[in-house]
Amino acid sequence: MDKVDKPDGEWRQCLSREEYEITRKKGTERAFTGRYWNHKEAGIYKCVCCGNDLFGSETKFDSGSGWPSFYAPAAETNVDTQADRSHFMERTEVTCGRCGAHLGHVFDDGPEPTGLRYCINSLALRFVPAPSGRAEEK
Ligand code: FE
Repeated sequence: MDKVDKPDGEWRQCLSREEYEITRKKGTERAFTGRYWNHKEAGIYKCVCCGNDLFGSETKFDSGSGWPSFYAPAAETNVDTQADRSHFMERTEVTCGRCGAHLGHVFDDGPEPTGLRYCINSLALRFVPAPSGRAEEK
């Protein structure tokens, strides 16, 4: 995968202030405030920074956490994980495999088939709806 590596100033210009704070400064949006925690359309959730396919709607589930939650990434190589010991917690951070954007964290209390819960900030995602049924009939 081609990596995307932009200077901080460029990210600042192409993202909203909130998107920048979450993705480039490892922020966290408040629960139940994001645009996607209760979003149920069919489609793909892409990285707000670089457009990388991150999570498909078929793996989204209602975790009750107030953040969009998925049990698997769109592809294993599309996200990276690393240990995060900030805020006096042992967590696993999830980042975009292409541009390094901070997305959220992954926990091991998710549903089958993976048992994982990718807890992701809406502000790190941009939803693209699946092609409509009519388009598929062509
Ligand atoms: Fe990205």
